[in-house]
Amino acid sequence: MSDNAVSTGREKYNELRKKFAGVFSPENIAVIDKAFELANEAHGDQKRKSGEPYIIHPIAVATILFDELGMDMPSVAAALLHDVVEDTDYELDDIRERFGDEIALLVDGVTKINRVQISSKEEQQAENLRKMLMAMSQDIRVIIIKLSDRVHNIRTLQYVPEEKRRMTARETLEIYAPIAHRLGIRAFKEELEDKSIGFLDPVAYHDIETKLEVQNSQRLEFLAQIKDKITNRVHESIRDAKVDARIKSVHGIYRKMYIGGKNFDQIYDIYAVRIIVDTVVDCYNCLGIVHDMFRSLPGRFKDYISNPKPNMYQSLHTTLICPEGIPFEVQIRTWDMHRNAEYGIAAHWKYKMGRSDRDVDRRLVWIREMLESQQESDNAGDIVQDIKSDLASEEVFVVTPKGTVICLPMGATVIDFAYAIHSAVGHKMTGAKVDGRIVPIDYEVKTGEIVEILTTSQQGKGPSRDWLKIVKTSGARTKIRSWFKKEKRDENIVAGKIEFEKELRKSNIRLDDEQMEQLLDALCEKQHQNSIDDFFAAIGYGGISINRIMSNIRDEVAKIVAASKPVQTEIKLVKPKQSSGDGVIVEGIDNCLVKLSKCCSPIPGDDIIGFITRGHGVSVHKKDCTNVPKNISSAAEPERWINVHWETTGNQGFNTTLAISCIDRMSMLADISVALANMHVMIHNVNTRDPKDGTFLLYMTVTVNNAEHLRGITAKLTKINGVLNIERSAN
Ligand code: MN
Repeated sequence: MSDNAVSTGREKYNELRKKFAGVFSPENIAVIDKAFELANEAHGDQKRKSGEPYIIHPIAVATILFDELGMDMPSVAAALLHDVVEDTDYELDDIRERFGDEIALLVDGVTKINRVQISSKEEQQAENLRKMLMAMSQDIRVIIIKLSDRVHNIRTLQYVPEEKRRMTARETLEIYAPIAHRLGIRAFKEELEDKSIGFLDPVAYHDIETKLEVQNSQRLEFLAQIKDKITNRVHESIRDAKVDARIKSVHGIYRKMYIGGKNFDQIYDIYAVRIIVDTVVDCYNCLGIVHDMFRSLPGRFKDYISNPKPNMYQSLHTTLICPEGIPFEVQIRTWDMHRNAEYGIAAHWKYKMGRSDRDVDRRLVWIREMLESQQESDNAGDIVQDIKSDLASEEVFVVTPKGTVICLPMGATVIDFAYAIHSAVGHKMTGAKVDGRIVPIDYEVKTGEIVEILTTSQQGKGPSRDWLKIVKTSGARTKIRSWFKKEKRDENIVAGKIEFEKELRKSNIRLDDEQMEQLLDALCEKQHQNSIDDFFAAIGYGGISINRIMSNIRDEVAKIVAASKPVQTEIKLVKPKQSSGDGVIVEGIDNCLVKLSKCCSPIPGDDIIGFITRGHGVSVHKKDCTNVPKNISSAAEPERWINVHWETTGNQGFNTTLAISCIDRMSMLADISVALANMHVMIHNVNTRDPKDGTFLLYMTVTVNNAEHLRGITAKLTKINGVLNIERSAN
């Protein structure tokens, strides 16, 4: 068994090895031989699910790389070794020792990708995708080897258990086929897609196959006729043109039926004719010829020669209708374009095309962009969605007013377009025109449309949070997210407001609420801000320098104050509100709430002292009030008793209550009232008490200016006939 396995592997390898002659140098073939020997020994008796010796798989991958893609020696050697580190006792260091850094790097990259399991957990998936992109971005041959590995796996997937098979097929469809597409390797893309769909949706797949096979001979005959017709006519003027006719991939039809919701009969590109010529001029000549031969379907012509796809695919596409009414697609391209279309990035090795590494670099741009957008995003779910949608999307080509072609995924909006031009254009976007007409901001662009982005020069203008729900590209989403992250608008508003108010205080500008509102409105207009919040936010993030606009602020303040002067005069005429606390100065404390205590009702001129209450400011007592401790320093909380004194200025009144003892006679109250009125003393309250001893007590609350004023009043009242005694009432 073991001998048999080894010999089967060796036979297979020798088949491949024969083809190396004339392509690789003897030294290079020796390296590949050495790689085979190590892999053969390392995998030993291992078996694949199909029952074949395991070594068959690395040989098959090396064969795909050499035969189908024409890859270089290190790629072929690394393909033979690609599962050694993962599945055998050998370490990466063993590979490096024997084969050097270049091959070791390739094996390491593929091993790393193999360890990436597409997980159902999105977080893990994001991390895995990141690792995969990282490995790819190090050396593009890593992913080409990996794709070849996957192609062989999918060719032999029927031997794998059902559950694993579905998982691999789904992963292939979601990740590897799109990567092959991005790298422009059409052959791989179509095979990966078709086989995956076959495993994932065998019923639909079989249905399409059956539909394609029904009247298959008729179809083939139709294709042959078309091919002949076109060949004959094209050869009249372009001798070397090569014409091919084929039925398009099952997956393409599947997508249009099951995702596009079309009928089998509605699909135009079941039939495809490919014309390959030598020069670009011949391409356009060919186009003219076929359009002269058949009616063309409007809106189906695409010039990917002047507007290459992002994966650098170039061709002319048009859909024609034969006299029987059957539509078919025609692709016209040069040989260079054809190799590019079939092998994509791999053509770099196979045909030594675009020998400069810039060609490879350009194809790697999207990988780098993915990695960048991953770094800026912190939501794992977003990342996976972004990558999947970026990989899966088909493209539309939109033109700027200056004629630059921007490629976007299908369904992209004018916002995506703005961000694709530049993030600054996106951030300052206010609207868009498509073919000269204003469109809504969620307008989805279509191929060929000329899109003009309307922007504002306003500082502080930025994207709206709603845009995140509208955009389709990960690039736009990332840029909008990072804008909000960077701008932290709410914090900017608060910071800006604080700075603004601080600067006004520094400049001794004091305005009431209404004036402040006027000032801010004026400044917003001057600074082109949509709202006061925008204005503050702009100050907050430094878009508006308050020092630079200070003279502007002063001008506005002067205008506002001048305009509101009459109002101010009026305000001054209104007698200031009196508070019982007015006229008392509390030592060491400005602006505190002061209350004259009710127990002793101090009036100016009285010796007073303050007590700091809990939460009700300072209460002011007469020093001889019974509630004031005789010896404060030995009282319970001496620190709460503080020095207060009367403000010397001011002529406000203080209320005090006099207890007047008098003879109970006619007009007694009237005489007292008249006397007070003559002294311009206001009476607030009168109470009487009859002690039943022939006298009665009159409590009068009056307004006095100060203690001296009170003494004068008391003296006058005492002179009234029948007034026996006057005291200040404690209450
Ligand atoms: Mn493998």
